[in-house]
Amino acid sequence: MNYEYRNRRLCVEGVELSEIASQCGTPTYVYSAGMIRERYHAYANAFSGMPSRVCYAVKANSNLAVLAVLAKEGAGFDIVSGGELFRVLRAGGKASNTVFSGVGKTADEIRYAIEQGVHSFNCESYAEIEVLNRVAGETGKTASVALRVNPDVNPVTHEYISTGLKENKFGIDMSVIEQAYAHAASQQHLKVTGVSCHIGSQMLDSAPMVEAVERLLALALRLKASGLPIDHIDLGGGLGVKYQATEDTPSIHDAVASMRKVVEASGLIAMVEPGRSIVAESGVLLTKVLYRKNNGGKEFAIIDAAMNDLIRPSLYKAFHDVVPVIENDQPTMEVDLVGPVCESGDWIAKKRTLPTLESGDLLAVKTAGAYGFGMASNYNSRGRAAEVLVDGSTFKVVRERESWEDLIRGESA
Ligand SMILES: *Cc1c(COP(=O)(O)O)cnc(C)c1O
Repeated sequence: MNYEYRNRRLCVEGVELSEIASQCGTPTYVYSAGMIRERYHAYANAFSGMPSRVCYAVKANSNLAVLAVLAKEGAGFDIVSGGELFRVLRAGGKASNTVFSGVGKTADEIRYAIEQGVHSFNCESYAEIEVLNRVAGETGKTASVALRVNPDVNPVTHEYISTGLKENKFGIDMSVIEQAYAHAASQQHLKVTGVSCHIGSQMLDSAPMVEAVERLLALALRLKASGLPIDHIDLGGGLGVKYQATEDTPSIHDAVASMRKVVEASGLIAMVEPGRSIVAESGVLLTKVLYRKNNGGKEFAIIDAAMNDLIRPSLYKAFHDVVPVIENDQPTMEVDLVGPVCESGDWIAKKRTLPTLESGDLLAVKTAGAYGFGMASNYNSRGRAAEVLVDGSTFKVVRERESWEDLIRGESA
């Protein structure tokens, strides 16, 4: 595996994490390029022999170096803003391999995307169809469109990351989708080329995905039969990863295989938009113990990473495994790991059994490569963490730690 102990030191590929901490400081996000490549190819290989496109969901981790690794391997991209398209292009990705998703694209973002030549738009409402058509007309181009269907399938995940239920803001209701398609198809500057969905995130079972794919395929075939030039079916992202030992998740290969079975005979191009399952396990957040404290009989370690660096525990009560960077033989203790931010909700891990911690000890918060840095903020005027990419036996700072000057850039008094 890409993270393992050697001589009691946690290593990523050929590099010791303690070495990264001493050269780059903490908190620092560390990503394994090798693991990102491996996950991307797991998707690409699972589709081999049928027409497909694997479009990495940029929002999971949008660092330029991460995007560049994927672009070099031939990945496409799934974006949800003009800023993400800008990043993809800077990283060497192709607009023609990029799909534009999201419920609130602005006219300016749409114009930029059309001018750059994105593959297609996943469109989420009547109102957006109108704007897309108008802007396409103004640029003198035709925009390829898939409508994002809300298949009303329960993905069985956290309510904040479930998107495919009727009452969510996402997609267009299955009961009116055919009228919406007829409306889109009647627009002069649009070409309706696909159907799309994305029902949620961190799904640990492929059954809901398969159910969504079945509904989506039936729709695609009806639309095609009615004469629309449907050539692709976009199944979204959402495959879960194992944050803790008790969780079990299908492998990328198996998840794709179960969806592939449904789609393959149709001859349509299968598209997927995985984010988390490509980058989550490639990353750790390196942090250092600042202080130990006992309050009301409870042990706390105050660490230098906080909710502004990794908000998933505070926001979703998410579990991240935390392990020592250097193993030792200290007796274990039960401890809450909390950050310096002035909020009781600022914790990274609760009730963990770890070797007795002392100030200066280094810890690795695991499975932090997705929705980690990307959701970071400057709350409490904390500069955002550095980001490091490891590739084989070398590593590189791919985003500098933010300075105090960075914090006030653009402000005036
Ligand atoms: C967030 C998102 C994804 C990626 O989801 P993961 O759970 O990270 O795989 C894919 N498609 C769309 C439209 C999204 O909003």
